Amino acid sequence: MENLDNIVSLCKRRGFIFQGSDVYGGMAGTWDFGPLGTALKKNIMDAWWKFFVEDRNDMYGIDAAIIMNPRTWVASGHTATFADPLVECKECKSRFRADKIADGINESVTTEEFLNTHTKCPVCGKESWGPIRKFNMMFETHVGAILPDDDEATSNKNIAYLRPETAQGIFTNYKNVVDTFYPNLPFGLAQQGKAFRNEISPRDFILRDRECSQMEVEYFVHPDTWEQNFELMRTLQHEFLENVIGLPKEKIHELEVPAEDRAHYSKRTIDFMYDYPGGEEELMGLAYRTDFDLSNIQRESGKSMEYRDKQTGESFIPHVIEPSIGVERLFLAVMTAAYTEDEINGEKRTVLKLPENLAPYKFCVSPLLKNKPELITKAKEVFDLLKNKYSHVTWDDSGNIGKRYRKQDEIGTPKCIVIDFDTLNDNTVTVRDRNTTKQTRVNIANL
Ligand SMILES: [Zn+2]
Repeated sequence: MENLDNIVSLCKRRGFIFQGSDVYGGMAGTWDFGPLGTALKKNIMDAWWKFFVEDRNDMYGIDAAIIMNPRTWVASGHTATFADPLVECKECKSRFRADKIADGINESVTTEEFLNTHTKCPVCGKESWGPIRKFNMMFETHVGAILPDDDEATSNKNIAYLRPETAQGIFTNYKNVVDTFYPNLPFGLAQQGKAFRNEISPRDFILRDRECSQMEVEYFVHPDTWEQNFELMRTLQHEFLENVIGLPKEKIHELEVPAEDRAHYSKRTIDFMYDYPGGEEELMGLAYRTDFDLSNIQRESGKSMEYRDKQTGESFIPHVIEPSIGVERLFLAVMTAAYTEDEINGEKRTVLKLPENLAPYKFCVSPLLKNKPELITKAKEVFDLLKNKYSHVTWDDSGNIGKRYRKQDEIGTPKCIVIDFDTLNDNTVTVRDRNTTKQTRVNIANL
């Protein structure tokens, strides 16, 4: 069955994902992608970029810096409100996110409300709590030459943050793009990149990590048209998730976020939930952010964020629809959907049924026997031919054919190609299908 432990174990065993800084005993909340994970992640991100940017006429890509002017986070509200409720056990000094260890409370819990839940410390079992304190999740850093013995005023002047979201890199470039490209509304700015959150207790493998990759579009619209553009973006998300990435439709659930749970800037939010092995979890969000961000930037920077309509001459601050997706969350959804255990001729196997466009390798090429030079020469020829044509091709001449098939099944290679003695006579090869394990003879010219 698809359970998280099996997927984590496969990820490690086959070089998809390793613990971050593994060699030094790890670094909590960080993960490193190995060769196959890197390939799969890149295929997912490239598919998104093609679908949302390259194949459309209303989208522009940008790639903003991770370290931004700290005024960005004052204007966006992150300096004041990007915080989780932290509670410390007075007995063992362990720190927790209050709303994650007690039931029935949310992020805005007060000390009194928390104490009333009579939660016991998950580490020592005692019930002895300090007050709830707000913990800002932005990673702080210093920019420029700061020395350890500088006074506080000097070092505070140089504080900057690793961006907690990619969105602000888009909003702060909105005016640059309008002034250089003169796009008609509606238009979108898309970005992929890293964002950082100092989670109090990272968990659930790559679902809640401290460093993640986001893919976001800010879609700028006339305020009167936000509803139809919200629907457009909603449809596009389903098309991408179901048709491009191949997630099963029945595992995706829309959750209309009620007003009291929405971010303060949003007038409507739909969370796209996914059935992960551990239960339903957020996969991505679609939010109507109104003119919240551009208006804040206008106020903080003193520069006009107004858009002037070329036809009507009307000037206004555009409103924004934002689809936002975490790459790691999507990666895990893709792995979950693909992970299959079945039985072939009485033998159990694990197979990763990845869509062909996402598989790290499209083909694996093998000689039937590795001690026959004529087979190896021919197989190398076929390998070079396919490598030139498709790039994502791997070579395997280890162990016996059965073992090679099982290894390729586990990493999701859709087709295995075997060169045997018949190949030398008639130029045909065996093509073995990952999902069905059926084998067919195909002429090399038709591969
Ligand atoms: Zn404790």
